[in-house]
Amino acid sequence: MITPADPGYDEARRVHNAMIDLHPQAVVRCANAGDVAAVVDFARGASLDVAVRGGGHSVPGFGTCEGGVVADLSAMRGVRVDAERSTARAEGGATWGDFNAAAHAYGLATTGGIISTTGIGGLTLGGGIGYLARGLGLSCDNLISADVVLASGEIVVADEHHNPDLLWALRGGGGNFGAVTSFEYRLSPVREIYGGPIFFDLEHAGEVLRGFRELIADAPEQLGAFPAFQIAPPLPFIPEERHGVPHIAVVTCWAGPLEDGPAAVAGLRDLAPVVGEHVGPMPYPALNAAFDALVPPGLQHYWKANFVTELTDEMIEAHLQHGPRVPVVNSTVHIYPIDGACHRVGPDETAFAYRDANFATVIAGMWPDPADNEANIAWVRDYYAATAPHSAEGGYINFMASDDQGRVKANYRQNYERLRSIKRHYDPDNTFHLNQNITP
Ligand SMILES: Cc1cc2nc3c(=O)[nH]c(=O)nc-3n(C[C@H](O)[C@H](O)[C@H](O)COP(=O)(O)OP(=O)(O)OC[C@H]3O[C@@H](n4cnc5c(N)ncnc54)[C@H](O)[C@@H]3O)c2cc1C
Repeated sequence: MITPADPGYDEARRVHNAMIDLHPQAVVRCANAGDVAAVVDFARGASLDVAVRGGGHSVPGFGTCEGGVVADLSAMRGVRVDAERSTARAEGGATWGDFNAAAHAYGLATTGGIISTTGIGGLTLGGGIGYLARGLGLSCDNLISADVVLASGEIVVADEHHNPDLLWALRGGGGNFGAVTSFEYRLSPVREIYGGPIFFDLEHAGEVLRGFRELIADAPEQLGAFPAFQIAPPLPFIPEERHGVPHIAVVTCWAGPLEDGPAAVAGLRDLAPVVGEHVGPMPYPALNAAFDALVPPGLQHYWKANFVTELTDEMIEAHLQHGPRVPVVNSTVHIYPIDGACHRVGPDETAFAYRDANFATVIAGMWPDPADNEANIAWVRDYYAATAPHSAEGGYINFMASDDQGRVKANYRQNYERLRSIKRHYDPDNTFHLNQNITP
């Protein structure tokens, strides 16, 4: 337990988003479910807020709190793969880097995020979008069971046979229902992928976005790919004079047979003349860690998100107006396709309701200097305002900011009332409220 009197407190209270400057009374580095239950019991008894921290990547900083207690799961990172059943069980504080390293040894994987330092916890509970989503569904679609510390301090299993309503809610409902101490996933064969980023000149951004829209609609589901507005980092495969210049990029990940990789990404490479690319066969965990250096801890974060059914010409125009103004190398805009296997799960089969959305857009503002907060937040807000009229009402909860609580209901659409009733059952006093909150 780390309190304000202890060395290391300042580091322990911090989360990935450096804009979050909160002071909990204690950060408890849990070792097991018993510890987590003790923290929840204590906080409830003392009427203190309790924050549950997995990977700490929540942009609104839900992994810490002011004056309360943090159940920090970051020391609980074990992953055990059952190759015979093609499943893996991972502790609640594991990151995708931990998870992929363990599963890769067996030639297996499941959908996770695109950055290896993000926690499996928050990402899976909110839905889980990544390279493998078109083929394998969202992370939460691959969640088959969870050990959960409830608000009462009781430890329960949520699976098909035990508390199935709780499992349903954990698949997209966020951290609202309890602290998950272990997640069990279904795995699929993925070892080496063929992919990587391709950079194009901004003058071709319109062609690239329109071409991507056509191509991805019919592409085999093993093709994960997303367009991005991105300032070129100083990387050897990008000509030096282009370093620091905004580009439109397409990041590719072909998870089918390796020999089919070049043909699978050829259409994307041919969208416009290529400025630089780093595409080829690589271990899936390598792609998952490829962009980690762009998002180190200590940046300021402000994000907005949209679900998009059709990437209309009007929407593309809005992107063309704001994307090229991406202010710093860390900031980015990604347009993730969430069709394919994500659409084969019905809108009320899990808490994640937007099964008709074809894309999830994130406008991810991330910058080093707090003095630039105003300008960077304004870029995100203006961009969002221009795209919102061409988007669905909801946006993925894991990509949303702290001022998006008013959109939580819209995110869950027809599932919201069922989520509320499950919340009333498992957490009637809203003990777990440091999240995109579903109020009991
Ligand atoms: C750099 C970066 C890259 C990202 N990339 C992607 C991406 O590719 N795809 C994607 O879908 N999302 C992505 N995200 C968004 C990400 O899904 C959310 O930020 C998510 O909440 C992070 O989970 P975490 O465990 O790291 O965060 P935390 O801040 O620890 O937790 C986030 C929320 O989940 C709850 N939570 C976490 N762990 C548990 C647990 N074990 N039990 C119960 N509740 C828990 C917390 O209480 C909190 O409410 C990214 C975020 C960042 C900052």
